Amino acid sequence: MDIQSNLDAVCDILLAANSVCSLTGAGISAESGIPTFRGKDGLWKTYRAEQLATPAAFIQDPRLVWEWYDWRRGIIASKEPNDGHKVLTEWETLFPNFALITQNIDGIHQRAGSKNVIELHGNIWKLRCTAENTITENHEVPLKESPPHCEACGALLRPHVVWFGESLDASILQHSFQLCATCDVVFLIGTSAVVQPAASLPLSAAERGAKIIEINPDPTPLTGIADFSFQAKSGEFLPVLNEELKKRLYK
Ligand code: NAD
Repeated sequence: MDIQSNLDAVCDILLAANSVCSLTGAGISAESGIPTFRGKDGLWKTYRAEQLATPAAFIQDPRLVWEWYDWRRGIIASKEPNDGHKVLTEWETLFPNFALITQNIDGIHQRAGSKNVIELHGNIWKLRCTAENTITENHEVPLKESPPHCEACGALLRPHVVWFGESLDASILQHSFQLCATCDVVFLIGTSAVVQPAASLPLSAAERGAKIIEINPDPTPLTGIADFSFQAKSGEFLPVLNEELKKRLYK
């Protein structure tokens, strides 16, 4: 099928859908200028993300890990939402039931205007006390104190993000699986689909017959189960799909 026929088919599916889920990953923020983990810009100094985003790295050298997060916060703060993020904000009102589940920690979906964002891996603008688990928001760029400490008890603060080897918040994960267990369509946008358990969410939907639509310039381990795979940048493709959709909705 050519692209237009695929677009037509996807629009038909979406117009008939009662509920739509979208699982986003670092790729949706790539066109905003925020580096992905698995890509040519994924390195910081000589470190790979997998060497820094771990509890062991933080215990060994909290200053180094915070230096990396401070660098990432600086990049994110200087970037803007792109057209892909903006389309997903519209979909909150376009579809009767729309869920936005993200692996991203950058908070850009919210900055774009999405109101209901399910953050599987936390948020880089939140800090958590290593002693009391209290969470505070902090938007300093750069951090005034690095590594930062809890104002209340003096313990070290850590980024409120899920590191490699850590478990996700059980209620957020359960909620996400429930959404995928009841939706008609799952969009996979800008995720390499190798980080678990996030990568299993679409599988649970596909098993029930929900349609899987992938948008990613490169194939992923989930491309094989996708009903439609658009090898494109999300910031370019989503606006095209959105226009097609609105033409049909408002004609
Ligand atoms: P990933 O880095 O593993 O993969 C990024 C994917 O995006 C790749 O498959 C790549 O082909 C695709 N991609 C690149 N440019 C794209 C574009 N313009 N449009 C669509 N897709 C594009 O990211 P992941 O799957 O999200 O998983 C890794 C972990 O990385 C997650 O836990 C996430 O928290 C973390 N992470 C988050 C951010 C962020 O918040 N912006 C940035 C880097 C990493």
